[in-house]
Amino acid sequence: MKAISVLGSTGSIGTQTLEIIEEFPQEFKVVALTAGRNLPLLVKQIQQHSPEVVALADESLLPELENQLNALPLEERPEQPPQLTGGADGLNTAASWDHADLVVTGIVGCAGLLPTLAAIRSGKDLALANKETLIAAGPVVLPELKKSGSRLLPADSEHSAIFQCLQGTPWAETARLSTGVPTPGLRSIHLTASGGAFRDWSTEELKTATVSDAISHPNWSMGRKITVDSATLMNKGLEVIEAHYLFGLDYDHIEIVIHPQSIIHSMIELTDSSVLAQLGWPDMKLPILYCMSWPNRLQTPWRRLNLTEIGKLSFRSPDTEKYPCMELAYAAGRSGGTMPAVLNAANEEAVAQFLEEKIHFIDIPKTIEIACEKHKNELKIDPSLDDILTIDSWARNFVKEQVKKNASYINKS
Ligand code: NAD
Ligand code: MG
Repeated sequence: MKAISVLGSTGSIGTQTLEIIEEFPQEFKVVALTAGRNLPLLVKQIQQHSPEVVALADESLLPELENQLNALPLEERPEQPPQLTGGADGLNTAASWDHADLVVTGIVGCAGLLPTLAAIRSGKDLALANKETLIAAGPVVLPELKKSGSRLLPADSEHSAIFQCLQGTPWAETARLSTGVPTPGLRSIHLTASGGAFRDWSTEELKTATVSDAISHPNWSMGRKITVDSATLMNKGLEVIEAHYLFGLDYDHIEIVIHPQSIIHSMIELTDSSVLAQLGWPDMKLPILYCMSWPNRLQTPWRRLNLTEIGKLSFRSPDTEKYPCMELAYAAGRSGGTMPAVLNAANEEAVAQFLEEKIHFIDIPKTIEIACEKHKNELKIDPSLDDILTIDSWARNFVKEQVKKNASYINKS
């Protein structure tokens, strides 16, 4: 029985992780949960899973959580009341909970960084969904992994596909460690992308894209931030940096290919030119389950892939003019050091401003580009955690200021 800590349990990744745990009660149990603000759902999860500890990001909501739990009829309360905690320390407590074997990181954004580091420092294995943490703080996270021996298992579907393909090579052991060292025998990675909400829109039409247009993804059902990232293709750009840190390939050997059906989740090319791919329906449960069951495979009743039903798999090059975020991410990744942290923080803030309808969709890449440009002279190649946190908050404030000033580039679009 594997004991699981779920960070961000009320989100898309978190709820899917809990569904898996409910499907396999002999294999997995919940020991820790953390959430943001969705108390009604969190209370249900506590009733269902009886975790040992529950942490709320916003400490001020703790009394309300306690009230809601106490208001439950006796027979509906969890057998053992969980330890309730909150704030940054509370999240770290849940992330490094002694009884946990695996921590699923489903917090969105760089808010996941400190809890993820707490999990790593306590030697836990991680199912990494919270890619922003690795992108912003790769130079800090990788040495910590090495030091503690904790293993980073990729839950992002593309990186899971790469990881799964690597299991079929003689270098599975190196790939398993995922500490950013080049995986021997691996020549290149082909990251597949669905193309997002606007794949059939023209560049001209993008100027009128609204929030509701951007948050409807054709193939995947996910949280709002990552759905907007998919629409700008920044998600794929972030995944290029994620792949660089996970598998140690340089940026010239990580390619993006648009694959509208989202059936091939990514491919690897080996030195002998053989290409391996992992296929499946677009459903995050499979990559999450693989992190949880690895190195084993569980038997599921899930819908099986039917190639003749799909009929056709197609591929095309990404349009970098229509979607500037990909090139911004490659450039930030190549600069290295603190630049990916600026890219990530500027993106998080720009997406938040877009979701609040303060900037247009096409302002997102422009805003990020200006922030990265501004940071060029301040770049630190070998940053400390403090450097990353300072720069993350600088980039967020920079974007907020730009929007407040209603800078001309925002309206000229
Ligand atoms: P989501 O918005 O649905 O859920 C986010 C979770 O984090 C919620 O439980 C929320 O309460 C919590 N949270 C939000 N802000 C927080 C904060 N400041 N401190 C602590 N907790 C906070 O997001 P999601 O779609 O589940 O994505 C989670 C992560 O997984 C992201 O990094 C995303 O890029 C990655 N990911 C998601 C998917 C997917 O299918 N949803 C796929 C691949 C990767
Ligand atoms: Mg992905």
